Amino acid sequence: MLFDTHTHLQFKVFEPIIDEIIKRAQKAGVQKLIAVGTNITSSQQAIDLAEEFQGVYASVGIHPHHVFEHFHSQIDMREHVGQIELMLQNPLVLAIGEVGMDKHPYQRTKYTDYEITQAFISIQEDIFSRQIKLAQKYRKSLIIHNRLADEETLKILQQNWSEFFENRSVFHFCEAKETLLKFAKEHKVFIGVDGDITFDDKKQDFIKQIPLEMLVVETDSPFVTPSPLRVQNAINEPANLIYIVETLSRIFKVSAKEIEDITYQNSKTLFNLY
Ligand SMILES: [Zn+2]
Ligand SMILES: [Zn+2]
Repeated sequence: MLFDTHTHLQFKVFEPIIDEIIKRAQKAGVQKLIAVGTNITSSQQAIDLAEEFQGVYASVGIHPHHVFEHFHSQIDMREHVGQIELMLQNPLVLAIGEVGMDKHPYQRTKYTDYEITQAFISIQEDIFSRQIKLAQKYRKSLIIHNRLADEETLKILQQNWSEFFENRSVFHFCEAKETLLKFAKEHKVFIGVDGDITFDDKKQDFIKQIPLEMLVVETDSPFVTPSPLRVQNAINEPANLIYIVETLSRIFKVSAKEIEDITYQNSKTLFNLY
């Protein structure tokens, strides 16, 4: 049995083929999935999917990239955090996420004036902090996004950390950074492994040194299509989790079944599912 701990199943590309995508995932052994929100709309859509499909759960939150809405449309993002709080009442919402810090200069983005400024980083930090506090208040797990901002991410985590988050948080799509791994080991944070493990040697070397007890798997679909499907430019989907498991099996020299069992158990712990 497999657990896709991070997919954007509610994104537009999947809409016309959602039944097929879920069927293919089940056929591949993916029993449970977390549909991860990135803003108000996609968080609500994640809940809608969780209500419709067995085995699908939701995570709600404002992704740091979308914190830019604050500048782009003069929206006070703190109000959006208030709307996220309302969604946390739903028992199918298992986590807050994806939330965190992001300094990647996105070229393809709906925000035409997108720019990483100090003011933007400050608001990202504020919105991240507020959402961490919500996770603790409502006893939800935490899905942490970091891209090129590990220093800021760790700073905000340190300021808001509580023992509650031990075994209840994940560095999703974890960058190969020793500082992140050190924090993860000290504070019992799971490490999310994605499709890039199938083609990125540096990522393989990084993951190889981490105990299996710390790993969970995720597709981050529709993004990050794993090898061998990558060459066909195929959109990624939860069924492709098997390629990540196969790669882990090869680099850890244990059976795929063992990888499945351990990561499934880890995922249940992460999302407090018993
Ligand atoms: Zn992310
Ligand atoms: Zn994501």
